[in-house]
Amino acid sequence: MDAEKIFNALNQIKISIDQHKDEIEKLDQEIGDGDHIFNIQRGINESLDLKDELSGQAPNEVLKKIGIKIMTTVGGSSGALFATLIMGMSKKYSSELTNQKNIASMFTEGVNAMKKRGKADLGEKTMLDVLIPVSIELEKLSDQKDVKLVAGNIKEVAEKGMLSTKNLIATKGRASFLGQRSKGHIDPGARSSQLAIEAICNTIINA
Ligand code: ADP
Ligand code: MG
Repeated sequence: MDAEKIFNALNQIKISIDQHKDEIEKLDQEIGDGDHIFNIQRGINESLDLKDELSGQAPNEVLKKIGIKIMTTVGGSSGALFATLIMGMSKKYSSELTNQKNIASMFTEGVNAMKKRGKADLGEKTMLDVLIPVSIELEKLSDQKDVKLVAGNIKEVAEKGMLSTKNLIATKGRASFLGQRSKGHIDPGARSSQLAIEAICNTIINA
């Protein structure tokens, strides 16, 4: 992992999120306030703007600066939560570990930081219903040498997590104000997180 790979991944995420703009906007209109797509696109664009400045820097520095940028520019609960995830990841980076082990331990650290910050866990109809299962699967596969196989598994786990939010009742975030009425809708943050993970997995699978 290096700065270039991180920005390439971000570019792929941007393409997929832009393609699903209307869908994500609608999901947040149904159980939130409709701004989720705007927050996500802003976060991606602000991060991509750092590309030249951060080129050649160590991955933990790149992630830390992206996290700070998102924290200071992006609104909504998702802005602070994604920033916390990315900054949490940056703290755990270790040049001693292999790429795969590094990614697993960084991601787990980031997800734990997000859980703590948002006081949320699995089954509350948030993006954590995608991110927690993905972190568990990454840990499980951290010794697997076939990266395409890992990417394929992660993609499936993320999709399953995203779909699981449909029948859940929201107990965190704006959607929780709807109580029972939040049921029957996919969580917007779960969908955007899943699309981002899918975009990264596809670049690995198609490499
Ligand atoms: P806001 O809810 O402030 O309008 P966004 O619309 O950008 O912010 O983000 C909404 C998404 O944030 C939700 O779909 C959900 O996935 C996620 N979310 C909300 N609260 C939490 C929380 N406590 N922990 C994790 N994710 C959360
Ligand atoms: Mg919103």
